Amino acid sequence: MYNMMSSKAEEFISDEEIRRCLRYGEENAENRELIGRIFEKAELMKGISHEEAAVLLHSELPDVAERMKDLANRIKRRFYGNRIVMFAPLYLSNYCVNECRYCPYHGSNKHIARKQLSQEEIVREVTALQDMGHKRLALETGEDPERCPIEYVLESIKTIYGIKHQNGAIRRVNVNIAATTVENYRKLKEAGIGTYILFQETYHKETYEYLHPKGPKHNYAYHTEAMDRAMDGGIDDVGLGVLFGLNLYKYDFIGLLMHAEHLEAAKGCGPHTISVPRLRPADDVDPGDYSNAISDEIFTKLVALLRIAVPYTGIIVSTRESQKTREKVLTLGVSQISGASSTSVGGYAEKEEENSAQFEVNDTRTLDEVVSWLIDLGHIPSFCTACYREGRTGDRFMRLLKSGQIANVCQANALMTLTEYLEDYASPETREKGRALVRDEIGRIPNEKVRAKVLEHLEGLHSGLRDFRF
Ligand code: SF4
Ligand code: SF4
Repeated sequence: MYNMMSSKAEEFISDEEIRRCLRYGEENAENRELIGRIFEKAELMKGISHEEAAVLLHSELPDVAERMKDLANRIKRRFYGNRIVMFAPLYLSNYCVNECRYCPYHGSNKHIARKQLSQEEIVREVTALQDMGHKRLALETGEDPERCPIEYVLESIKTIYGIKHQNGAIRRVNVNIAATTVENYRKLKEAGIGTYILFQETYHKETYEYLHPKGPKHNYAYHTEAMDRAMDGGIDDVGLGVLFGLNLYKYDFIGLLMHAEHLEAAKGCGPHTISVPRLRPADDVDPGDYSNAISDEIFTKLVALLRIAVPYTGIIVSTRESQKTREKVLTLGVSQISGASSTSVGGYAEKEEENSAQFEVNDTRTLDEVVSWLIDLGHIPSFCTACYREGRTGDRFMRLLKSGQIANVCQANALMTLTEYLEDYASPETREKGRALVRDEIGRIPNEKVRAKVLEHLEGLHSGLRDFRF
């Protein structure tokens, strides 16, 4: 029985409810009256339900697709402006006791080099990331309670926050580790993490169990209820995601929205971010083995619909996607992207000799190239990490975002952190056009007092001071 307030996975992600919505969506795919009403609600920019989203998801009417893109673009501009927050993943360890069929880190894969970074290696990797200009990381590990216990993750976070190379600093560490206990989530919170990210992979229980035949991840309920435990452990900001291509995308899309609705209803705050990864080739994994791959057209539709359904949730697109695809979805609602990513354990400080990558990267450009490209497209690359450091997390953050007031601080912080990047790490060409962009964009800070303060801080940045924030 569907119950969005329930703490049981099979009740807040009810298979019966998803199937009902899929039927409802299919039956109403050309129901113009209903579609019109859904758009009227969506125009309020407060989101739509999973049931309403199912109708738009099924509709193949060309004007509906265009209207969705247009609305997604306007929502994106209203809440996130033209800013794109940058981050990089850092793989700490690829030892894993699970057997996920789509991931080369599965325990029985003997072709791949197994590695775990020592604290000294972490210092080298993070120094290399700082020297590129990164300020925000997403830590990734396989699941191995013996080789990669929570104590190792906590020690690594402490090491990372302690590294200060020249003007560099990692100011926000997000963490993507296996589902764990409330007690361990509390420890992560105390270690000062930003967002806790865990991909569901698929919400379809049978497919989930088939794809995860062994190991702790086999337990669908334990995995699906992880975000509830994370929030019970005090983590305000959580990041959801499914791996598109594993199961029928319509099913998973509805499941994803139901998960977001559940967190908002039961925990008082929806997800901070949603990631939209698609299956990529990797050692021992051929996406051709999965018949549910989604086209670029469907992918862009999903991003636009996500933007409409959950306007207050950041959308993340990684380097799994090509430059071309990333370009398409930037205007449809994406608010964060990774740049210059290594998907191997190690790989930033030195090119790795043995392959330990989790998947093949599609966008292989340097961070400077990505920053330069964003500027050319009229976006502001932002290295901002201010909210979590200013205690603006969970529902406090959501209230600011919903009121539209966040624009003041986001725009100001984006321009100041971009200036730090331009001064410390950019190529001369990127620096020049970036400075012009900053000059143009200052006028778009809505609040006059904030604008004046930013001008003052920019002077400070030019004379060598760092880390101003609102
Ligand atoms: Fe391990 Fe995660 Fe890969 Fe599964 S997806 S095999 S849990 S690293
Ligand atoms: Fe994100 Fe907050 Fe910075 Fe805006 S001010 S970019 S919401 S961290």
